[in-house]
Amino acid sequence: MTQVYFAAGRALWAEYGGPLQTALAEAGLDATLTDTCPDPAAVDYIIYAPSSPLQDFTPFTGTKAVLSLWAGVERIVGNITLTQPLCRMVDPALTMGMVEWVVGHTLRHHLGMDRHIINPGHRWDNTCPPLARDRPVAMLGMGALGSACADALRALNFPVTGWSRSPRPGCLHGTDGLTTALHTAQIVVTLLPKTPETENLLNAARLALLPRGAVILNPGRGAIIDDDALLGALNTGHIGHATLDVFRTEPLPQDHPYWSHPRVTVTPHIAADTRPASAARVIAENIRRGQAGEPFLHRVDRTRGY
Ligand code: NAP
Repeated sequence: MTQVYFAAGRALWAEYGGPLQTALAEAGLDATLTDTCPDPAAVDYIIYAPSSPLQDFTPFTGTKAVLSLWAGVERIVGNITLTQPLCRMVDPALTMGMVEWVVGHTLRHHLGMDRHIINPGHRWDNTCPPLARDRPVAMLGMGALGSACADALRALNFPVTGWSRSPRPGCLHGTDGLTTALHTAQIVVTLLPKTPETENLLNAARLALLPRGAVILNPGRGAIIDDDALLGALNTGHIGHATLDVFRTEPLPQDHPYWSHPRVTVTPHIAADTRPASAARVIAENIRRGQAGEPFLHRVDRTRGY
C-alpha cells in the first residue's frame, strides 16, 4: 500500500482531500492518503505547499518525491533538508487562468479601454487603437505559462517575442536576446520564476531600453522588477502603465506607493490559481510514475532554482 501524506495544511486539505482520493482511485493506485503524519520513514510521497508547517524533511527517509501544489518553488528549493526529488505543479486549469489574465490585461492596454470606461468629462476621443499585429509583445519566460500565453496572444495576431534561459526554437535567450526583446516591445509580460538570476532583472537600465509608453504586466514574481526603478520610470511616463499581480511583500502593504500610483493597477495575486480537480490528477499521475519507475513530470532542477 502506497503511503501519501498531505502536508500542505488544514485549509488546503478541505479543498484537496476529496479530489485527491478520486484521482488516486482513477489512476488505479492502491494508496492511503492522510493529512496526519504517520511514521515519517513509511511515507512514500508528500503533497506539499510552502505554507506547510513541515519544514524538516530529514525523517522522511523512504520518501520518493515531494509534490508541490504550487507552480513557484522559490520558498522550497533552498530547504537543505529536502533531498528527495521535488516536483512543482503544472496544472492545465492554472494555465488557462493565466492565459485569461494575460490576454485580458493585454487587451485592456492595447485597446486603451480605460479612456472610455473612466470618462467623466464625456470626451469624444475617437482615436482608433492600432491592430494587434502592430503591437509587439515581449514574453519574458517561455515555460509552461509563458508559452501558453504567447500562443494565445499570437492567435490574436500580436507579434510575440519570447525570451528564455536556454535556447528554444523561435525564442531569444541571453543578455543580448533580452536587449533585443525589450527594444521594440510595447507590452512586456514577465512569467519568470524567482531565482538569483531573475531578481531585479527589470532594472532601470533595462526599463530604459523599452520604447516610451510601454506597458508592463507582471504575473511572474514581484522580485523580478526593481520597484524603485519601475516607480521612477512610471513617474517620468517612460513606462505608461504597470499591471502587477505579484509583489515582494504580499499582501502589498497599505502604504506602498503602487496602491495610489495613477499608472499602476494592482491585482492581488489572483492571475492563476491551482484548481483541485485537475491538480489532483497531476499529483496522481506523478505517484503512478513513481510507482512504475518512470521519470517524474515537472521535476525541479535545484541548481537552476526552478
Ligand atoms: P516554467 O515552466 O519553469 O518556465 C519558466 C521560464 O522562465 C522558462 O522559459 C525558463 O527558461 C525561463 N527562465 C528561468 N530563468 C531564466 C533566466 N535566468 N533567464 C531567462 N529565462 C529564464 O515556469 P511556469 O510554470 O511557466 O511559471 C512561471 C512563473 O509564474 C512561476 O515560477 C511563478 O513564479 C509564476 N506564477 C504566478 C502565478 C500567479 O498567480 N501570479 C501562478 C503560477 C505561477 P528555460 O525555458 O530555458 O528553462
